[in-house]
Amino acid sequence: MDVHPAPVARPGTRALLRATKYDGTAHWIQPFHVVSDDGNLLVASYRARTPIYTSRGEFRSPYDSLVYFWRDRWYNVFRLSRPGCPLALWYCNVTTPPTYDGQQIGYIDLDLDVTVRPNGCIELLDQDEFEVHQKLYGYPRDVIDRAESAARELRCLARSGSFPFSEG
Ligand SMILES: [Mg+2]
Repeated sequence: MDVHPAPVARPGTRALLRATKYDGTAHWIQPFHVVSDDGNLLVASYRARTPIYTSRGEFRSPYDSLVYFWRDRWYNVFRLSRPGCPLALWYCNVTTPPTYDGQQIGYIDLDLDVTVRPNGCIELLDQDEFEVHQKLYGYPRDVIDRAESAARELRCLARSGSFPFSEG
């Protein structure tokens, strides 16, 4: 019997995103506030200029972000806009499905990214990094397949203007 059901995030509370690479090293740590959580889809917001830790040093994003994390999907979607401005772009990260422990959102970053611009331009980024890391970290075959299918699903959702890309 599971005596510790998976926590559901309460709107307005803080949630810290801690993304790692496949070997467990810290990759990206970003503070959020929870907007909503239905037990699968957790939506969180980030205020522009709040410090973010990255493996390449501190970063302050110029974008307000609304982020969609589905507990059963191998990606997340960042809706980026400069404060007071309309949508600038969607930035989608291919990752393992996220966990939420009541305070932190965690996943493994799997390199591939998809960007979607308001003009309909869709790009797949970091395929070279994905190739290198498959060998460096020894991604299992099913992880490679899941990541590639996540990148395909993102492009398909974007092309058809499906949620969350309908929320421009
Ligand atoms: Mg990447």
